[in-house]
Amino acid sequence: MPGALANGWTKPKRFDRNLVVIGAGSAGLVSAYIAAAAKAKVTLVEANKMGGDCLNFGCVPSKALIKSAKVAHQMRHADHYGLEAVEPKVPFSAVMERIHKVIAEIEPHDSVERYTGLGVEVLQGYAKLIDPWTVEIALSSGGTQRLTTRAIIIATGAQPVVPPIPGLAEIGYLTSDTLWERLRDRPEVPRRLVVLGGGPIGCELAQSFARLGSQVAQIEMAPRLMMREDPDAAGFVEASLKADGVQVLTGHKAVACGTDDDEKWLEVEHDGGRHRIGFDEIIVAVGRAPRLKGFGLEELGIKVDRVVETNEYLQTLYPNILAAGDVAGPYQFTHVAGHQAWFAAINALFGDLKSFKADYSVIPWATFTDPEVARVGLSEAEAKEKNIPYEVTRFGIDDLDRAIADGSAHGFVKVLTVPGKDKILGVTIVGEHAGDLLAEFVFAMKHGHGLGKILGTIHIYPTLAEANKMVAGQWRRAHINGFLLSLLERFQTWRRG
Ligand SMILES: Cc1cc2nc3c(=O)[nH]c(=O)nc-3n(C[C@H](O)[C@H](O)[C@H](O)COP(=O)(O)OP(=O)(O)OC[C@H]3O[C@@H](n4cnc5c(N)ncnc54)[C@H](O)[C@@H]3O)c2cc1C
Repeated sequence: MPGALANGWTKPKRFDRNLVVIGAGSAGLVSAYIAAAAKAKVTLVEANKMGGDCLNFGCVPSKALIKSAKVAHQMRHADHYGLEAVEPKVPFSAVMERIHKVIAEIEPHDSVERYTGLGVEVLQGYAKLIDPWTVEIALSSGGTQRLTTRAIIIATGAQPVVPPIPGLAEIGYLTSDTLWERLRDRPEVPRRLVVLGGGPIGCELAQSFARLGSQVAQIEMAPRLMMREDPDAAGFVEASLKADGVQVLTGHKAVACGTDDDEKWLEVEHDGGRHRIGFDEIIVAVGRAPRLKGFGLEELGIKVDRVVETNEYLQTLYPNILAAGDVAGPYQFTHVAGHQAWFAAINALFGDLKSFKADYSVIPWATFTDPEVARVGLSEAEAKEKNIPYEVTRFGIDDLDRAIADGSAHGFVKVLTVPGKDKILGVTIVGEHAGDLLAEFVFAMKHGHGLGKILGTIHIYPTLAEANKMVAGQWRRAHINGFLLSLLERFQTWRRG
């Protein structure tokens, strides 16, 4: 790169490593794994915990919490299944202990030992870019180490955004980074909890704490929850949260925080008026921002507007410095971080021979509220916004035999197709195990199969997965050729003599 040499750096003639990966979350672990498998000499540097956000503060603890909350919910509603309903006793520290046990059980998958065994050198410490080929590591054990390397992958992830609400910093808020430790030894759930934020993380946490017994007020500035999803999907989640006792306050802006006589409060603005909500704990879940500062990106002139700026090959301004995961955007999911890691690692190691564009054509995700909301491809709102013509086929899960038997007969499968064709443009599923059900559509979209192929596939009876076949059948019925049908009718009449 022209800028590189203009800055007076000299490219080393020999390198200590083929690749240095900064950050051992999903993106960093997968990058290092691929590099080691390709026989590269690779060093993975982690400043905090191996496994990053997903294992320690994100997906894993939140899903373990959701499970305990769901059991509590089912106990409370056991009469739906012909059993006696009971109000669950919730020794909260035991719930938290289980969450930490789950983390500990998964930890070996991401551990220093496992990666060392795979051929990755793991260094615990804070990495900083010195020049485009040199990384300096402030080792956790003390001292520093400098490594020259042909390529570098930035996989430093993201962290919770804390909005500048007056009084918030002083009051002692929780985030997904802190709540798992800070609430760990608490014998009871927070009695009154405010959850700031109506996105996926806010919704998952609000519902879980409400089910475990907290009085939850969820504050969202936007007119509805889960703005990224279509209103019909988000509406299901909102209704479910309300049924669980969450006070959903959409269109409410948090403006100040404070304490009166030991009583903590949050002041919110709504419809031109203001009022206060008392609470014991507040969880801030208004979004997560990439970790961009403090490790040399600015000094190297790498643009860091909202994410690390990269091209389609995940290369920064310097083709040998790449980025993957939350720090690179545009998505913030573990599976996308892992997906990008493949492109980053291959391009980092072999880019001067052949490079591959990161492929975002079929990206699925799910929000693990009850009901779950899973999506791949276009939503209706996105199709309209982008002026993409589409047809909608919808199957109500309330009509599905297995869902009725399970007492989970709610939700829908909504498929957007190209008008007159079975080519899938997008799918939203709301319901029990929606995240699992979506996999069939993800596969179909990835490999160019239409609804006809799903309809022609045997699905086990009675399963929730039959919903996918049902929606395909619905599409088929709506596209029957009328002319062919009348011909058939005449043929059958003729056959009767
Ligand atoms: C509550 C919550 C629930 C979530 N649930 C889901 C879910 O259900 N499904 C899903 O797909 N995603 C979920 N996510 C998102 C998911 O956790 C992230 O998308 C994923 O962790 C991103 O991985 P990453 O490798 O980009 O970054 P991270 O996992 O954040 O890893 C980055 C690592 O880099 C380290 N690091 C940073 N700077 C340096 C440095 N200079 N030197 C050395 N190390 C450094 C950090 O310590 C960190 O460990 C959730 C997130 C949260 C917070």
